[in-house]
Amino acid sequence: MSNCIFCRIVRSESPANILYQDEDVTAFRDLHPQAPVHILIVPNRHIAGMAQVGPEDTALLGKLFVVARQLAEREKIVDGYRLVVNNGPQAGQTVFHLHVHLLGGRALSWPPG
Ligand code: 5GP
Ligand code: ZN
Repeated sequence: MSNCIFCRIVRSESPANILYQDEDVTAFRDLHPQAPVHILIVPNRHIAGMAQVGPEDTALLGKLFVVARQLAEREKIVDGYRLVVNNGPQAGQTVFHLHVHLLGGRALSWPPG
């Protein structure tokens, strides 16, 4: 999608601090970090959110989480990190291109707001 900021980052049309990219997924640092480590892992293909995923996306969804785990190791936050997918405006989704937040580097409270 030409007007989607994450599609533009995936295609290197908008700047981002990209930490990982392959044929399926891209990971980059969040512009407004909510923790010392705050990385977004996104599918390269535009998927608006969890409401749009189906059985054909099973491997892709798994890959988002495997890449998140690898980045958590690389960022040395394996003592404790959180993976978050906000789905829908009421859950705080503001960018409608599916993404997994990887948050760590500080104590994280529970329950989330
Ligand atoms: P959401 O609220 O949809 O779950 O998360 C969207 C995230 O994307 C937010 O944490 C926000 O800071 C981040 N974000 C929004 N626009 C940009 C951008 O242009 N570049 C980067 N790197 N992050 C962005
Ligand atoms: Zn997109």
